[in-house]
Amino acid sequence: MNIDTIRSHFPILKKLIHKHPLVYLDNAATTQKPQCVLDALEDYYCEINANIHRGVYYLSEKSTQAFEKARCIVQRFINAQHPQECIFVKSTTEAINLVARSFGDQFIKENDEILISAMEHHSNIVPWQMICQNKGAHLKIIPMNTKGELSIDTLSQYFSKKTKLLAITHVSNVLGTLNPLRDIIKEAHAHNIPVLVDGAQSAPHLKVDVQDLDCDFFTFSGHKIYGPTGIGILYGKAHWLKAMPPYQGGGEMILQVTFEKTTYKEIPFKFEAGTPAIAEAIALSSALEYLNALGWDYITTHERDLLDYAIDALSLVPGLKIIGTPQERIGVISFTMDGIHPHDIGTIVDQFGVAIRTGHHCAMPIMDFFSIPATARVSFGIYNTHEEIDCLIKALQEAKLLFKL
Ligand code: PMP
Repeated sequence: MNIDTIRSHFPILKKLIHKHPLVYLDNAATTQKPQCVLDALEDYYCEINANIHRGVYYLSEKSTQAFEKARCIVQRFINAQHPQECIFVKSTTEAINLVARSFGDQFIKENDEILISAMEHHSNIVPWQMICQNKGAHLKIIPMNTKGELSIDTLSQYFSKKTKLLAITHVSNVLGTLNPLRDIIKEAHAHNIPVLVDGAQSAPHLKVDVQDLDCDFFTFSGHKIYGPTGIGILYGKAHWLKAMPPYQGGGEMILQVTFEKTTYKEIPFKFEAGTPAIAEAIALSSALEYLNALGWDYITTHERDLLDYAIDALSLVPGLKIIGTPQERIGVISFTMDGIHPHDIGTIVDQFGVAIRTGHHCAMPIMDFFSIPATARVSFGIYNTHEEIDCLIKALQEAKLLFKL
């Protein structure tokens, strides 16, 4: 499909910002939404709005069918074996907290270890610290090198009999590193260690196949994959989810309640207490179908091309340093510029309509590792173009002029 046609699907891309066409390069934070996702939200509220799984009337049945169809679309999108293995949650953050609390409650004891990597988002650090604190367990860290790659060759030295789970990101939201997860998971499984994958930055950019990865849990957020906010997915292998206690209690997750005792429904409902984000789940499935229709060949080739073009262009800007040079990378570039704080870079390029993220990107340990307070970060999506990267470079040059550099 032609890039102009793709861009025409995203109404917000027509906007002018400070009298300049919007150049949206903050896709790792959240993506823009195509018209089909906006239509799905409106259609839901105009045509079939009713609470699900409860009513026997027409609207409730339609709404329940659309919600459960959305689950099947998610299942096919990540190639899960069963729809029940796909749980609707609020976000990647909620998915990881669910596993930390529920898996942690059931399987983590005093002096056990949980393993994460040095390049995790706070969402894949803090929930594990909290469960470690509760249980008297220990958090262990797989280190990385200055390219921003994990030390895979020495991985097995971090596994021990006490390791109860490895929680690791598929793609770093700061460095863009694509971790070799199949090998890592194979190695972890050889030590009987289950693996949770934080897929927030991979699911929007590459074809995810949870059976091929053989991960035990996989998480991603709707809003980073061209869907709405307030919806995300936790995939878990059925045998783990069945063995884990509910994360929250309330309506919809129970079989029977008396004041003495409550029994729970089977998965996935056991983990979906209360009224879920129905419209958002359905609209997320529209986003996934939109990506399927574009095709992964297009998406990966286009985004690879943008990345190569941007790395070449940024490397030519004097005083600009790209943070992290991993061999295998996807859609994200962090950088610093001599003499300009990243926040100033972000503020100045915004004057030219260019939206980039600046700060620690919820990954303070990565900032500490590189001894920097913050970076500027550009991240790409299916609708970005070479021309937009040229606009970024021009805006960066304006920033240098302003700072007399
Ligand atoms: N993990 C990674 C790698 C991320 O990039 C993000 C979002 N920046 C998250 C987790 C958290 O996602 P959310 O805020 O949608 O829960």
